[in-house]
Amino acid sequence: MSNNIYGRGAAILKDGTSLDVKTGSWKNRTPVHSKEKCKNCMLCVPYCPEGCIYQKDSILTNIDLDYCKGCGICAKVCPFKAIEMKDSKEEI
Ligand code: SF4
Ligand code: SF4
Repeated sequence: MSNNIYGRGAAILKDGTSLDVKTGSWKNRTPVHSKEKCKNCMLCVPYCPEGCIYQKDSILTNIDLDYCKGCGICAKVCPFKAIEMKDSKEEI
């Protein structure tokens, strides 16, 4: 059973700890964003469960792959097919 400073088992005892857990190392699929296809509608931003799609001044600026877990939700919800999921072992 996990017994670190943040929690035991599935219990999260302290808030604001998500930045301490980099999920990017275990994902097996990677989102690849196309600036050419993207219309900056921002639909993908609130759907990302890791909150790792960043925008500034209504422009999608970055997907932080250190925290992306490769779930593919962003690619699924994008109405413009501007995010494609690739095998993480592929050269991206
Ligand atoms: S693949 Fe999942 S975790 Fe990664 S950026 Fe897309 S929605 Fe977020
Ligand atoms: S949903 Fe697609 S078009 Fe909209 S901001 Fe995200 S990547 Fe760009």
